[in-house]
Amino acid sequence: MRIVSGMRPTGKLHLGHYFGVIENWKKLQEDHETFFFVADWHALTTAYKNTKDLQKNIRELMIDWLALGLDPEKSVLFIQSKVKEHAELHLLFSMITPKSWLEWNPTYKDMKYNLLKLQDIALQFRGGLRDAVKEFMGLIPYKIEDFEKFEERLLDDLAETFISALFEGEIEPQLLKNLNVSKRDFYETDTYGFLGYPVLQAADILIYKGEGVPVGEDQLPHIELTREIARRFNYLYGDTFPEPEAILTETPKVPGTDGRKMSKSYNNAIFFADTEEEVQKKVMKMFTDPQKLRKNDPGRPDICPVFMYHKLFTKDSDLIEQIDRDCRAGKLGCVECKRIMLQGLEEFLAPIRERRQTVERDIDKLIQIFEEGSQKAREKAKATMEEVRTAMNLK
Ligand code: SF4
Repeated sequence: MRIVSGMRPTGKLHLGHYFGVIENWKKLQEDHETFFFVADWHALTTAYKNTKDLQKNIRELMIDWLALGLDPEKSVLFIQSKVKEHAELHLLFSMITPKSWLEWNPTYKDMKYNLLKLQDIALQFRGGLRDAVKEFMGLIPYKIEDFEKFEERLLDDLAETFISALFEGEIEPQLLKNLNVSKRDFYETDTYGFLGYPVLQAADILIYKGEGVPVGEDQLPHIELTREIARRFNYLYGDTFPEPEAILTETPKVPGTDGRKMSKSYNNAIFFADTEEEVQKKVMKMFTDPQKLRKNDPGRPDICPVFMYHKLFTKDSDLIEQIDRDCRAGKLGCVECKRIMLQGLEEFLAPIRERRQTVERDIDKLIQIFEEGSQKAREKAKATMEEVRTAMNLK
């Protein structure tokens, strides 16, 4: 199977990236033809205003990928913007993609509202209107085929109108002030590129005739859109593209050091570029069961982030069971428990850190690997574009 996937360059990778994505990619590269790209154009869909760190972030990602075990002998590793054919296919796909497919894409709305911290307000507004919308629907003098779907559409449209009116100052200006988001933020997020990024994603996958795309559940609507675009193209111009399958994988959850989702923006991440001392400091400050204040207080390992790390990094399963028992019985203190966990974590991180340093010492080689990967990708992309242009009578 040919697998295609990409990652936005947003800085150094952390444990969450490894267990959420890279570990799976490493498995896939063993048995499949794999194309993995640094999605630098995608990074611009939401962070176009500040590109100062873009090259640095791309470099960090390249270093991390190699240090974590993505292998240029097994995978085509490349940079999206080095293969301009992605942009051409994106343009052609944008001609055949109905705007409504993008506007109704749930990920687009979620991302937009999340970025602007509008999720709660939109949900509240929808919730408050549900009964009124139901009543209104009872008055419509036409037969409605799919009652539920239509109700959701109405609620979505009303919420969208409400949010726009809010930003236009037509509704209670204080509400907008409380949100601490400006009208400018709203319109600057609402770009053509942001709306159309699933079309670029479809181009990224289909240009290599990707058959499988490893994704998380939240990305499923995008893969569905890629399949719809492929179907539409094939219907209009003849069979050209496969309909790629989503490859859903269970990934272990790695909480951040404060127990929330691991994220750079929460300042709770353990990075592969961290030194041993930095990791040690982060671990010793990690959140634990808040009810266990002293060693002999009984603890609850099932809600403790340190214990979740034990499950990932402490190799001896008897020791994990012992920790579980001793924590519950108030026989183990959190400081000691963290020290034990740190050993396993360091055993995992130390060789990666070392490989990172090796890769960093020879940046020319790193650049060459990605140049060669981009060249291989370009050859495949060029061949697909020849077919596409012929199919569309563009040559
Ligand atoms: S002893 Fe370990 S598992 Fe128990 S609460 Fe403390 S850190 Fe968590």
